[in-house]
Amino acid sequence: MSEKTHSGKHLTKVVGEAYMDLHARAAQGAFVVWIAINVPAELFYGFDNVVYGVPESHAALNAAKGAGVTQCEKAERLGYSMDLCSYARIDIGSVSDKGMDSPTFGLPKPDLLVSDTNNCSLLVKWFEVHHREMGVPHFIIDVPFCYEPQKEKDRQYIIRQFKDLIKTIERLSGQTFDEKKAMQAVANTSEGINHWKRFLTFAEHRPSGITAFDSFVQMAPFLVARGTPQFVEHYRMLADETEQRVADGIFPVPDEKYRLFWDNIAPWHQLRDMSGRLAALGTNIVGATYTSCIGTVEGSFELFAFDGGDPLEYCARTQNCYMCPHGMKLRGKSMKEAVQKLNIDGIVFASNRSCKPYSITQMDQQKLMTGQFGVPSVMIEVDHADARKYSRESTFTRLEALIEAIEAGRRAV
Ligand code: SF4
Repeated sequence: MSEKTHSGKHLTKVVGEAYMDLHARAAQGAFVVWIAINVPAELFYGFDNVVYGVPESHAALNAAKGAGVTQCEKAERLGYSMDLCSYARIDIGSVSDKGMDSPTFGLPKPDLLVSDTNNCSLLVKWFEVHHREMGVPHFIIDVPFCYEPQKEKDRQYIIRQFKDLIKTIERLSGQTFDEKKAMQAVANTSEGINHWKRFLTFAEHRPSGITAFDSFVQMAPFLVARGTPQFVEHYRMLADETEQRVADGIFPVPDEKYRLFWDNIAPWHQLRDMSGRLAALGTNIVGATYTSCIGTVEGSFELFAFDGGDPLEYCARTQNCYMCPHGMKLRGKSMKEAVQKLNIDGIVFASNRSCKPYSITQMDQQKLMTGQFGVPSVMIEVDHADARKYSRESTFTRLEALIEAIEAGRRAV
């Protein structure tokens, strides 16, 4: 969705204020935590003065604003390999000169690092670098991978670690945790995600009311503001405005001929170029595994709502919503569900040179979706945040070949 929409402008405001607030409160003495995206930020609202930053989200913002390569190269000059995840290189590069080229002036120095094992082991090692360099404690939440719906014993194991995390913050910050406040934050998250899911449903319309690129950009509040009333307000505005635009006949690709689905992290440095060039071909990437999994439980497309019960239970239950910890079966299930729901003509498997855990099963998924279910697909090479590992022309040659394959399939019917 373009910046001219109210929700586009509001997004800039929400994200800008979140980073300004983080810096201001850190400067005034708030306890600062750096977290991985899956860590339940809602728990921090149970304390009076704990704030958090998300290095992955900050890295994505750097890439989207054109600073990704500059930051990566700083890390490489320090000896980190180009083969490491570009989010890690951007973050390490940004920290190395105190956020000099960052659009948000980096993140304020942390008092605690909290990583988890659900998405990848690289992230834990990356946070270990900060632990060593800054001398800051590092709390690691161990979340079992999932090949089927979460087991009760796994959930209890995660909850015990959340309780340890709360005690650790109480001890380090001198603040007391109030579960009622955390519960309100969880309720806010759940309500906001309900609107987010409503927003995504406009992809079902023909032509689609949204593009996956809109959803990539609009993910930001989920990472920097979840748990807050602003989070609810933002996603309500986004869904309402999209509903109105669809009712008014305003569509991002009005002459939509081909509806595609994206598998992997957003190509942050290519959003504008890729969406514009595809639109010129009457093509819209209407959905993505990356954004449809938010607020779900493993392998599902549907919202997993908070029932007003134990907030720790809800946070533990939704720990595996992202794709990386999913085995083949769950990935295949969620992709098939999305492809059917959104009437997808073709799938773009974006093999990501940075994110191996996301990319590792894509060839098998491609076999499944194209071989078994007959959905044409293509594999392209990207890096979500390092533009040096992306070739625009070879990508579009493949995307055009996918469109031809869809056309050929239509002619054959
Ligand atoms: S490799 Fe993938 S899952 Fe791991 S930190 Fe990078 S983007 Fe995240």
